[in-house]
Amino acid sequence: MPEPAALLELKQLVEGPVFGPDDDGFADEVFAFNVATVHQPDIVVGAVNANDVAAAVKWAVAQGTGVSVQATGHGATEAIIGGLMISTRRMQDLEVDVAARTATVGAGVKWKTLIEAATPHGLMGLNGSSSDVGIVGYTLGGGFPVFGRALGFAADHVRSFQVVGSDGAHRHVDAGSEPELFSLLKGGKGNFAVVTSMTFGLHESREFYGGGIMYPGKDADQVLTAFREWVPTVPDDASLSIALLRLPDVEFVPEPLRGQLMVHLRFAFLGSAEEGARLLEPMRAVSTPVMDLARPMTYPEIDLVHMDPQDPLPYEEAGGLLHDFNEETQAALLDIAGPGIDSPLLLIEVRVLGGALARRPELVDSINGRGAKFSLLTIGLLAPEVAALVPSHIRALFQALQPHLTGFTMVNFHGRPGDAIDRARAWDPETFDRLKAAKTTYDPSNTFRYGHGIG
Ligand SMILES: Cc1cc2nc3c(=O)[nH]c(=O)nc-3n(C[C@H](O)[C@H](O)[C@H](O)COP(=O)(O)OP(=O)(O)OC[C@H]3O[C@@H](n4cnc5c(N)ncnc54)[C@H](O)[C@@H]3O)c2cc1C
Repeated sequence: MPEPAALLELKQLVEGPVFGPDDDGFADEVFAFNVATVHQPDIVVGAVNANDVAAAVKWAVAQGTGVSVQATGHGATEAIIGGLMISTRRMQDLEVDVAARTATVGAGVKWKTLIEAATPHGLMGLNGSSSDVGIVGYTLGGGFPVFGRALGFAADHVRSFQVVGSDGAHRHVDAGSEPELFSLLKGGKGNFAVVTSMTFGLHESREFYGGGIMYPGKDADQVLTAFREWVPTVPDDASLSIALLRLPDVEFVPEPLRGQLMVHLRFAFLGSAEEGARLLEPMRAVSTPVMDLARPMTYPEIDLVHMDPQDPLPYEEAGGLLHDFNEETQAALLDIAGPGIDSPLLLIEVRVLGGALARRPELVDSINGRGAKFSLLTIGLLAPEVAALVPSHIRALFQALQPHLTGFTMVNFHGRPGDAIDRARAWDPETFDRLKAAKTTYDPSNTFRYGHGIG
């Protein structure tokens, strides 16, 4: 805990509010989207601008304490205990440069704000399945977008970062001025600097054909079989994923889905409605859907593709990468969580990689997953009745799928980072060695040690 004099000094150095654990406002400031994670830093600074970030980092280094960063808490897989937290949610600057087709966003901006700002100009960004996620945190983890197979990872569309390094200095980082740090930030998560703002390329926003189809859980085997046969026939302009969803028996879940096992197909095709509907035909014929929500959509409707929860909730998540999703993978999945099995896992999702996600970019980055065929993510809702069962069911799922897993993860979908060996799995060994070596250059005192820290 900082001495009162040091605390007073910090309060004088920054414009934004500073809260200690006993202050009103502390709990709100550290609140995370994943409400099962209750952060307990020694102190939290509600930064309002880049100077606040720099002052907070310098102060923390002088105190010999670590620095964590939180924008929304969507990545709160483990509680941050001790140190100084920089809360970026007040850093809401956003500028769309229509001529250059870029956006520059402050560290606290969520995708939904960008969608609102870019849409009137006919532009879009590469957001993921929920627009409630923070743009910067998502992109530092690579950013696996809904339109990923067509347009690639979000991080590869970044033009520049404004950061505060572990020395507390402001730096402009782009491919020309700081090529090494630029490559580390694109996928290396929060290990090297605090990003205060970021400029990235936008794309023409077109109507797309997409949405979800919910099939009854009893048909899971035939739907997954059809999905496996269908995937290789679908062009790169279409992104697709499938999930086993066990929806809780609670009021906010629509009646036909409540308390049921569903198979949720997600589809987003950047092409004509006619072609999109034609592509989906084999999956429409496979079973009678409980809900078929696929239709021509506009960019602001993109959250409807995955229908992720928008309100904070308590959960545990874990992810991996699959080198195949074949008959055996399917059988193992259904044995663990298929119809008739009592599983507390809310979601087991398989996203299809490939297309632009598999292509190496011109500039080196630190994103993992290009060589895998599918990504896997599971989420267990930590509702009181089932919370104790979730960890063992997650372990059993990964054990059952072990022959099909690459052993590596994407950092955004890694889940709770474990020991050093587990943390390293979020990158291929060569990239991890590069990140680890660079940590001694850019953060020698391991100031940025929280989140998915590798120091
Ligand atoms: C509902 C939901 C849907 C998701 N969908 C996708 C998806 O489709 N694709 C995908 O790739 N990911 C997805 N994610 C994962 C998400 O991208 C990561 O959890 C990401 O870290 C969230 O960033 P945040 O800033 O919102 O979260 P936070 O919890 O606020 O931040 C997470 C971490 O990001 C780092 N960070 C954040 N801001 C900064 C900064 N300014 N400077 C330095 N480091 C920073 C820190 O290490 C921090 O611990 C999803 C997560 C959820 C909960």
